[in-house]
Amino acid sequence: LKNDQLDAWDRENFFHPSTHLAQHARGESPNRIVTGGSGVYIEDRDGTKLLDAFAGLYCVNVGYGRSEIADAIAEQARELAYYHAYVGHGTEASITLAQMVMERAPDHMSKVYFGLGGSDANETNIKLVWYYNNILGRPEKKKIISRWRGYHGSGLMTGSLTGLELFHKKFDLPLSQVLHTVAPDYFRREDLSQSEAEFVAYCVADLEALIEREGADTIAAFIGEPALGTGGIVPPPSGYWEAIQAVLKKHDILLIADEVVSGFGRLGTMFGSDHYGIQPDFITIAKGLTSAYAPLSGSIVSDKVWKVLEDGTDEFGPIGHGWTYSAHPIGAAAGVANLKLIDSLGLVANAGSAGAYFKNALTNALGDHANVGDIRGDGLLCAIEFVSDKASRTYLDPASKTGPQVAAALLKEGVIGRAMPQGDILGFAPPLCISEAEIDKVVDATVKAVKSVF
Ligand code: PLP
Repeated sequence: LKNDQLDAWDRENFFHPSTHLAQHARGESPNRIVTGGSGVYIEDRDGTKLLDAFAGLYCVNVGYGRSEIADAIAEQARELAYYHAYVGHGTEASITLAQMVMERAPDHMSKVYFGLGGSDANETNIKLVWYYNNILGRPEKKKIISRWRGYHGSGLMTGSLTGLELFHKKFDLPLSQVLHTVAPDYFRREDLSQSEAEFVAYCVADLEALIEREGADTIAAFIGEPALGTGGIVPPPSGYWEAIQAVLKKHDILLIADEVVSGFGRLGTMFGSDHYGIQPDFITIAKGLTSAYAPLSGSIVSDKVWKVLEDGTDEFGPIGHGWTYSAHPIGAAAGVANLKLIDSLGLVANAGSAGAYFKNALTNALGDHANVGDIRGDGLLCAIEFVSDKASRTYLDPASKTGPQVAAALLKEGVIGRAMPQGDILGFAPPLCISEAEIDKVVDATVKAVKSVF
C-alpha cells in the first residue's frame, strides 16, 4: 500500500485515542506509520529513524526488536493461542509468570490477578477494595482518594481517579465516590519559602482535612503512583510516602501503589515501592510486565487483602470478576520472556546508573538556562520543566504551547520525548537498555531543541 492510501484510510476510518479528532480528520496533525524498531530506535515507512526516548508510552522497557520475546509469543501462539483462566484453568505461561511476578514483588504481597492494561487493572483494584469492605461488613467505606495530576487510566472509575482535567471534561467525571488531594510537587509549591519537610506536612494536612471532612469510615483507599508520571513526572519530596502511609494506617485506609510505569525497573529498583519505602495493599502493574510486546496487566494483592477475599468466597461464593482475556497465554509468554531479559541484561541496575548519568548530563547542559525551571527524575524517568522566569518559577503562557514546541523541535533532531499533557514539561522515559552514548545523543538533541525555541 502506498503512504497516500494509508493516510486517506486512516483519516476516514481510524478513531485514534487521545487525539484532537477534528484536526486529525482535517489532516492538520501528522500520521506517522511506524514499521519497525531495534534497541532504542523506531523506524517509519519513510525510512526515518528516531531515537525513542519515551519507550512508546513508557512501556518498551527492554527496547524494540527483541527476538527472544517474539519467539516466545510465536511458540505460544502455535502451541495454544488461547485458553481462559476461569475456575482454576491456567497455562504453563500464566502460572510461570505469576510465580515470577510474586518472586519479584515485595514480601508481604500474596497473589497476582492478570488483566490486559493498566486501566482495567486499576478497575480490578477498586472493585476488590469494595468487595473487601463489603465482606468485612462496612459497606459505607467506599470512597477512593487520588491526587490531582495522578494518572490511573481512562475508564469510568480510572478516568475519575486520574487527576487531570482533560480526562474529566465532557465525560461527567469524576464519579462521586472519588476525591482528590494535592499533588506532591515540591517545585510547584505555592509558598516558595516552604522547606521540603514543611511541604510534606502541607500535603499531609490536606489529606487529613479531606478525611476529616468526609469521615474516615467512608474512605476505603488511597491510590498513587510512586512518582507522578503523566501528570508531569514528579518524584515525591523526601519523607512524603512515609508520612502519607502513617495517615492511611491511622484511618484504616488501604493503599494502592499504581506501578504501571514504575514497575519492573524504571526507577532503578524492581518496583517503585522498593524505591520509596511504600508498603501497599495493592500494586498495579502493566507496561513493563511485557515491555508492551503483548497486552497484559496485573493487580497484585497483599496477604492481608487476600485473606479477606479468600474467606469471603467461602461465605458468598465465587468472586464475580473476570475478563475473557485474563491471563492471556500470549501475553503471559511475552511476560515470562520479558522478565528473563530484564534479569539477564541487568536492566534494573542500568536504569539506576543510566538514569543518574542522564539527569546529570541534562543538568550540566541546561541547568543554567534562563527558561529551565527544574530538571528532575529518578532512574530512567525524568523531565525538564520550562518557565518564563527562573527565580519566580512563573508559568509560560499556555497559549504559546512551548512544551509541545520543544518536543516538536526535538523530533526534528531525531529524538522522541513527550510534551506532558499539562504544563510545559518535556518528559523522558527511554528503554531501560539505553547506553550512555545514546543518552549523549538525547541530551545534545535536547539542547539544540531548547535553543531553537527560546
Ligand atoms: N496507571 C498509570 C500510572 C499509567 O501511566 C497508565 C497509562 O499510562 C495507566 C495506569 C493506564 O494504563 P493503560 O493505558 O494500559 O490502560
